[in-house]
Amino acid sequence: MSPLTFDIQINIILLDIEGTTTPVDFVYKTLFPYASNRIESFLREHIKEPEILSIIEQLYRHYQIDKVQETQLQHWTNETYESRLHSAIVYCQWLMSKDIKYTALKSLQGKIWEEGYNKGALRGIVYPDVPPAFERWRQQKREICIYSSGSILAQKLLFNTVSSGDLTPHIAAFFDTGIGHKTSTESYRKIAQSRARNPSDFLFVSDSMKEVQAAHDATMHTILCNRDLRVPELSKERAVAQSFDEIFPDK
Ligand SMILES: [Mg+2]
Repeated sequence: MSPLTFDIQINIILLDIEGTTTPVDFVYKTLFPYASNRIESFLREHIKEPEILSIIEQLYRHYQIDKVQETQLQHWTNETYESRLHSAIVYCQWLMSKDIKYTALKSLQGKIWEEGYNKGALRGIVYPDVPPAFERWRQQKREICIYSSGSILAQKLLFNTVSSGDLTPHIAAFFDTGIGHKTSTESYRKIAQSRARNPSDFLFVSDSMKEVQAAHDATMHTILCNRDLRVPELSKERAVAQSFDEIFPDK
């Protein structure tokens, strides 16, 4: 099935990031190692800021719950300033090694990435077909929205710093898991509601079959983004695109 058979009236395009606009490697081989390498110096530099103190307090609360189950977890001590800082760093490294996504950890990672983007040490990456597609869809009077599990701040920084130029002026709205999980149908209904539209006005594009199914169940139109042709067997059931060039091309 060709995506071109989609109703031309679909005027909001909702996009996933990882594996859809951006290679998955960017997150796992660039962003996560950057946060992991910078966490100690970042906390040392910013430890006196109320927001950072609050993040550490939230992490400590998570630690107290985790330590009951995880006997291997290194003991957290608050006795001295240095021991509290060291405990927070060790616990963050442990959470990252397990890919545990607590909001407090995500906020901290977001702040480290923000600093990295601002310093120019990090730059957002998108597939080469993404900037021309954004231009084309906007000329076609379609609205572009983003829905990713990364924080809204991290999403904005990514699109703001791509080498071809700032893409954020093309993006009407950003959604993260604050609106709900990406595999929950309710999240897609809420996104439509927040734009005062029907789910059927949307085309959702993602490389995750579970996310595509959840959006489909909310009556959104969907395309499975299959950039590396990783899931050829699914192409019989779903509209599949390998590149954004295939989605609403110019006539
Ligand atoms: Mg994805």
